Amino acid sequence: MLLEDFPEDIRPYLEPKPSGHPIYECLACGARLAIDQLYYTCPTCGGLLMIEDLDFPRLRSQPGSFWRRLFDYRLIYNRQATRGVFTFHEFIAPNLPLNDLIYLGEAHTPVVAAPNELAKEIGTLFYFKMDGQNPSASFKDRGMAVALSYLKNQVRVKNLSSVIAVCASTGDTSAAAALYAASLGDSVKSAVLLPKGRVTPQQLSQPLGAGATVFELPGVFDDCMKVVERLSETYNVALLNSKNPWRVLGQESYAYEIAQQFDYLLGDIVLIVPVGNAGNITAILSGLLKFHRAGLIDRLPRILAVQSERANPVVLYYEQPSNLRAYSPVKVRPSVAQAAMIGDPVSFPRLSKLAADYEKVAGESSFGVVEVNEQSIMESMLLANRRGLTICTQGGECLAGLRAALAKGLMTPLETAVLDSTAHALKFVDFQNAYFSGSLAKEYGVITKPEIANHPRELNFDGLEVPKVDRPLEPGPRETFVRIAADKIASALGLTT
Ligand SMILES: *Cc1c(COP(=O)(O)O)cnc(C)c1O
Ligand SMILES: [Zn+2]
Repeated sequence: MLLEDFPEDIRPYLEPKPSGHPIYECLACGARLAIDQLYYTCPTCGGLLMIEDLDFPRLRSQPGSFWRRLFDYRLIYNRQATRGVFTFHEFIAPNLPLNDLIYLGEAHTPVVAAPNELAKEIGTLFYFKMDGQNPSASFKDRGMAVALSYLKNQVRVKNLSSVIAVCASTGDTSAAAALYAASLGDSVKSAVLLPKGRVTPQQLSQPLGAGATVFELPGVFDDCMKVVERLSETYNVALLNSKNPWRVLGQESYAYEIAQQFDYLLGDIVLIVPVGNAGNITAILSGLLKFHRAGLIDRLPRILAVQSERANPVVLYYEQPSNLRAYSPVKVRPSVAQAAMIGDPVSFPRLSKLAADYEKVAGESSFGVVEVNEQSIMESMLLANRRGLTICTQGGECLAGLRAALAKGLMTPLETAVLDSTAHALKFVDFQNAYFSGSLAKEYGVITKPEIANHPRELNFDGLEVPKVDRPLEPGPRETFVRIAADKIASALGLTT
């Protein structure tokens, strides 16, 4: 739609101008720092940082209905810079000018209702938000769009020649970091650290394809994270892990979109979110609180954090009585929800603070945890696929979480669950292959059910002349081959003439 065709009162706002007064705020000591350089931990105490907009009250000078209308109109305003996460520019990184914003097609992922058959089997109506439909096929693109826009801004303002951006990853952070860095050409070069053998071949191919320098290290994600922390404390690099508070801002867009996609009515909704490093759930809580504070939503949804019993530090923490809770990292065991296979979540201090803030506003049962096992994760993913939805193993973890939550009375069928398929199914297809071939059992403890396993069938054409790639059949033999092949398939399918 052309600018002149928008309602007159909306036009001046469609293109945001830099505004607000964001600063870093340390969660541990409360120190406040200017955003004119990149910090990921507090230089005074080493605590985690969040970005707070000191001028947030300006957003409240407009009624919630104004923002709802503006954001809905922005969806049909054709300008690259205000697409994706920056549809919500005023709430995300309002200081960044439009020409620094990166858009590679991220965000605005569809919310899809479970097909009837699936909803019936699970016992409730629910939705999946398909965050695998992002450019690098996971939600991590939301955060990288903002982190790299900020870096682009810094490179321009400070006239830097080249920045090296580093991250540790369970696979998807590095894929997103490498892609968004690649969009800036030589001004930002990315290096990624991966636990060898603990990312899927598809995920490994992504930073390689985007030209990043890829290091495979022994151990698990938590070990890579320690090395990256040491790098960022000792050398001049830009850290792109979720310690980087700019990423949190971008990932808040997940919550904003859900608000928009449910017409800003979230009172009866339960969001089910898989938790690894706890960056995503932190961002979702933060985003919802901001929309609530600014009056875009009246009622907050409930949030359920889901973890596998093989990587469950957040579940163990919240299952303790609230006055006795003590946090301790866990030793992870192999999990098919591999992107969430983290024993010592970096963002845990953010999560515990935000969950407490959230409960203060939304009530005591507004934040909860649910634990699931590997068998249920795998079978939930496969079940969804067999009923029309392709979700990743972490999406399977959410569906397993929904089933467990219903069974334990943590939610009722009167509530509407919105589950996060955090990545594309194809990144994790090797888990499906291993399940089907029965080879998951050893490490993951998942037993294959023969009625679910699926294999390609080969037909026996012994003694018959068959086509070859470099030698098609002559008309006569081809007719025979086609007839016999069709008959064999018909007999396998039980077809009658
Ligand atoms: C990173 C990731 C997670 C875990 O999110 P956190 O922010 O680390 O809690 C879950 N699923 C996928 C696909 C991921 O890439
Ligand atoms: Zn501090």
